[in-house]
Amino acid sequence: MPIKNAAGNIIGIIQLINKPDNMPFTQNDEHFLEAFAIFCGMGIHNTQMYEKAIKAMAKQRVTLEVLSYHAAAPLETAQKLKKQVIPSAQAFHLYDFKFHDFCLEDEDTLKACIRMFLDLDLVERFHIDYEVLCRWLLSVKKNYRQVTYHNWRHAFNVAQMMFAIITTAQFWKVLGDLECLALLVACLCHDLDHRGTNNSFQIKASSSLAQLYSTSTMEHHHFDQCIMILNSQGNHILASLSTEEYTRVIKVLEDAILSTDLAVYFRKRGNFFNLVDTQSYDWNLEEHRELLRGMLMTTCDVAAITKPWEIQRTVAELVASEFFEQGDIEKQELKITPIDMMNRDKKDLLPTMQVGFIDAICLPVYRTFADLNGKLRPLLDGVEHNRAEWQKLADERMRKEGDN
Ligand SMILES: [Zn+2]
Repeated sequence: MPIKNAAGNIIGIIQLINKPDNMPFTQNDEHFLEAFAIFCGMGIHNTQMYEKAIKAMAKQRVTLEVLSYHAAAPLETAQKLKKQVIPSAQAFHLYDFKFHDFCLEDEDTLKACIRMFLDLDLVERFHIDYEVLCRWLLSVKKNYRQVTYHNWRHAFNVAQMMFAIITTAQFWKVLGDLECLALLVACLCHDLDHRGTNNSFQIKASSSLAQLYSTSTMEHHHFDQCIMILNSQGNHILASLSTEEYTRVIKVLEDAILSTDLAVYFRKRGNFFNLVDTQSYDWNLEEHRELLRGMLMTTCDVAAITKPWEIQRTVAELVASEFFEQGDIEKQELKITPIDMMNRDKKDLLPTMQVGFIDAICLPVYRTFADLNGKLRPLLDGVEHNRAEWQKLADERMRKEGDN
């Protein structure tokens, strides 16, 4: 009697011989054996799958070991950074909402990060080994790809905005040092290993990442990379935390990184806007603080929209370039027509699309934060000013089209 697997291939046979008392095998015996063969087939199949899974897991562990070794920055560069003098937050303009990194060298960006950890008192409070902090920062920077926009500089700017907001609005009093630590780490890590393509691209290209995570695909990956670095030899900045503190930081970190998916922002913002509108928030409640942290992440992630016009225009062009590069791949490799925002042929629509982006995503959240804390009003003013500038460009384009 053949034993078959799910695909119907024969993977074994059963033979019955010598029925007791020299009786012949009946049709009944045959049916019984057939049923038994099905169970044998499932058993063998499961065993084979199990062996494959064990091998695949071992392979994954080896890959992770190799990856983690190469992901970590060399010790020597960390020791060099450790010896550097760290300028003050004022010298770096770290409290300034108008901050930009255009004139900073890569090394300055690392020093500025150290300054943020020092001034939020995180190094002292959580006994972070200074050399480990230097190495971790270098490793984080190393794990950003050289893509047009979602690179280390973007992550650095997002972290600076978080620093500026939690100090200016004194949100650190609400959040406490543990959540401040988690948020700063989250900002620096929130786009790790970004490939310059968004979530819907992963799905359209049926990338391995999309198979792994069907929603918030890239954000799950950024979090995974963040954990990988935190677990790498010589990069354990959270080593001195108690078990409870560590678990808590990781949870807040995960929430914060996943919140940078705009789909999550849209899902959660109604509740947050409502809390602020009705002044019914209670920051002692974890649920309310979680909303606050998620909205802060979006506020910092898109903060280029609040910057002085020249900075805003430069950054918007970088974002658009990266989008067009994705659009090019969609045209050439996936043979599909990209959405206007990613379509190089529609680049004249950029001003109009910026106005749309500001109205749909930015204005509501900056308005709410300005209501929540008057010190954050300059961010809203910045967005409104940039909206007017983009609108001017959009109108100009319309006029030119009219002339033609
Ligand atoms: Zn980002």
